[in-house]
Amino acid sequence: MFKKVNTKSKEELLHELSKENSPRRTLSFYHYVKIADPKVMRGLLYDKFSELNCLGRIYVAEEGINAQMNVPVDNWALFDEFIQSIPEFALVPYKFAVEERGHSSFIKLKVKVRHKVVADGLNDKTFDPSDTGDYATARDVNEMIDRGVTLIDMRNFYEAMIGHFEGAKIMDVDTFREQLAKVHDMFKEKKEEEVLLYCTGGIRCEKASAWMKHNGFKNVKHIKGGIIDYARQVKELGLQNKFRGKNFVFDERLGERVGTETISDCQVCEKVKCDEYVHCKNILCHVLFICCGDCTSRLRGYCSGLCMLSEKFPKKLNQFIFRRNRQKYVNQYKKNYKKFKISTTVK
Ligand SMILES: [Zn+2]
Ligand SMILES: [Zn+2]
Repeated sequence: MFKKVNTKSKEELLHELSKENSPRRTLSFYHYVKIADPKVMRGLLYDKFSELNCLGRIYVAEEGINAQMNVPVDNWALFDEFIQSIPEFALVPYKFAVEERGHSSFIKLKVKVRHKVVADGLNDKTFDPSDTGDYATARDVNEMIDRGVTLIDMRNFYEAMIGHFEGAKIMDVDTFREQLAKVHDMFKEKKEEEVLLYCTGGIRCEKASAWMKHNGFKNVKHIKGGIIDYARQVKELGLQNKFRGKNFVFDERLGERVGTETISDCQVCEKVKCDEYVHCKNILCHVLFICCGDCTSRLRGYCSGLCMLSEKFPKKLNQFIFRRNRQKYVNQYKKNYKKFKISTTVK
């Protein structure tokens, strides 16, 4: 079977999307469930999602599914009917975005087969990821924070930078894999106490809570549906919001506001409160950093003077420069992260 290969540029795709009249609904869902043949499932999902003009990023693995996507509102009923018709996914809870922007949250449809839906780096055959900790609702979370629970942010440092829960422990890690390897040891004196975990949409915590239990933690809970669903519950039930700043999400929006506060600064000028992440326009660099409007226009979307010059250099020279310097820029922005000194960061 021939798959349509999308050769359009990002600009062309964005232009097409800007002309759409039907609004889109942004959602995410995941489920740890045994999928016998991920390749067959991938084909089934790709064909139907293309037909329904859905966009987003969907991972399928033997251990389950993880989807972040949007659906044209006009096709919603057909989409839901299709998902419910697949036995593995029936009754899977959808999580909807709190805020829809004027434009599509994704520009392409990607459905990929992965070894695992969430890379965990674990090779422990005795570990059962479905033996998870208990769920905490938004109401539980607020009560637990009030009584001083050990609250661990199971996301990467750059995600926690722009938004996190009051009093959360933020680890200086770049990947979930790295975090899983350290977390049980780092908090080992809390094994007998109540520990609460959270992440963006709950999928990482589902696994992390099982991993903590596997490592002897007696009372592990995780926020059901992550920050995304916490925000929804807070809004719906009129609860106090204990999440400060923005929730980093992995789509074109790079963040969804949950509270009203901006807790981080522009990493370029370090003078302006800002929580807009951008990727450096130089694709060889592509470093992710927080950049205010003024700095974005001054640097024309690049992270630095050197990247700005890349426009003028031939490709070969750019490749040479970035092979040698990329880490320097990555480190520079990481150093900046640390300067913000989130007081609760654990070493
Ligand atoms: Zn700035
Ligand atoms: Zn750059």
